[in-house]
Amino acid sequence: MPDILIGNGTVVTLGAGNRLIEHGALLVRDDRIAAIGADADLRQQHPDAAYVDANSGLIMPGFLCAHTHFYGAFARGMAIPGAPPQNFREILEKLWWRLDKLLALEDTCASAEVFLADAIRHGTTCVVDHHASPNAVDGSLDVIADAVAQAGMRACLAYEVSDRDGTAVIDAGIRENERFIRALRAERRQQAEAGMIAASYGLHASFTLSPATLERCAAGGADLGVGFHVHVAEDSSDENDSTTRYGMRTVDRLETARILGPRSIAAHCVHVEGGEIGRLAATRSNSVHNPRSNMNNAVGRAPVEDMLRAGVNVGLGNDGFSMNMMQEMKAAYLLHKFALSDPRAMPADLVLDIAFHRNARIMDAVFSPFCDNFPRVGELSVGAAADLVLLDYYPPTPMNADNFPWHLIFGIDAQHVNSTMVAGRWLMRERQLLALDEERVHARARELSQALWKRA
Ligand SMILES: [Zn+2]
Repeated sequence: MPDILIGNGTVVTLGAGNRLIEHGALLVRDDRIAAIGADADLRQQHPDAAYVDANSGLIMPGFLCAHTHFYGAFARGMAIPGAPPQNFREILEKLWWRLDKLLALEDTCASAEVFLADAIRHGTTCVVDHHASPNAVDGSLDVIADAVAQAGMRACLAYEVSDRDGTAVIDAGIRENERFIRALRAERRQQAEAGMIAASYGLHASFTLSPATLERCAAGGADLGVGFHVHVAEDSSDENDSTTRYGMRTVDRLETARILGPRSIAAHCVHVEGGEIGRLAATRSNSVHNPRSNMNNAVGRAPVEDMLRAGVNVGLGNDGFSMNMMQEMKAAYLLHKFALSDPRAMPADLVLDIAFHRNARIMDAVFSPFCDNFPRVGELSVGAAADLVLLDYYPPTPMNADNFPWHLIFGIDAQHVNSTMVAGRWLMRERQLLALDEERVHARARELSQALWKRA
């Protein structure tokens, strides 16, 4: 692959160096960034590189999503029969657990493709997925991994083990996680070592996991050297279930079961208390905030800034909402101010810190068991991943490295995303998807989702 020199743009590096370089350029060599600097200098130094004109727009790192559900794509517009769900448990029973039971492998594939196309279109380059399809468990992670490879994205996959569908499905979920994790060190080794695919050990949530199932998973995950990906205290009912049945709070139960740790993801953490926050910090576990989902399910507000102050690494996910992480960042920015009646809550620079720097730490934690040299993501720097986005954004007011977060929250959105690159390969150029045939993906998904809705 010849070097690519992307120039005539404003380079926003983020990361520790956090620079904004006007008339900047960036050299891509293979899957990494080889140089960053002034356009004129890099053009002179690399006359043989293929030059790509950013049209005076922005060149910035790709967006990251640390918690999603690709299977959620088929829920868009799906009718919920009877009275509207009154609480979180009813939302699961009437919508999500009805939908996931109906997924066949081809549905899993088609819904993953919908969200992968959506991610590329919105400049999201690396995603952590949490999958459930209780009646088509075996091979489901392979189907998703193949779709991810086809799309050219980076993703970490997991199957949500749960007791809710009985013994055979528990066994199948455990088997699927363990089989897939082993495959990443065998037949899928090349993909994994290239930092394109990874896995966590998936668990649904404390309230659907018996002590025996947790014990089996803890042993399996420890043997395989991976972390866990589990919903934690998304709704108060998860905490109530744990205290009533096991006499301890959810985080304490998971810590006792050896589920927490530096490679583990505790999604949501809406209802965690001070002591639990301390345990998340002490075990160096990662929490993932999903503001749109939390507001949609009316489950409450996660104490994100409390967790950060206590030393918990908190990232940002979308929990199966659209792959537009710019929307998720705006929701995070607004939610805490509104809920706390405090305009100082969750400033834009903190939102970007969570969405890029802290999400990048999560990506490093989940990819590094499979990739010795996982590149830095969420920033543009020499040696970092060539995972980037070009945006047709022309600021109407002064923009610099310090106020860039406020430009992103108030000015930048989907309409500006022009091109997306992952690992040095263009997945979208001038708004045309190159790796996926979006029309075919949508046509297939419409056909399969309609058939699935009929089965429901
Ligand atoms: Zn979730």
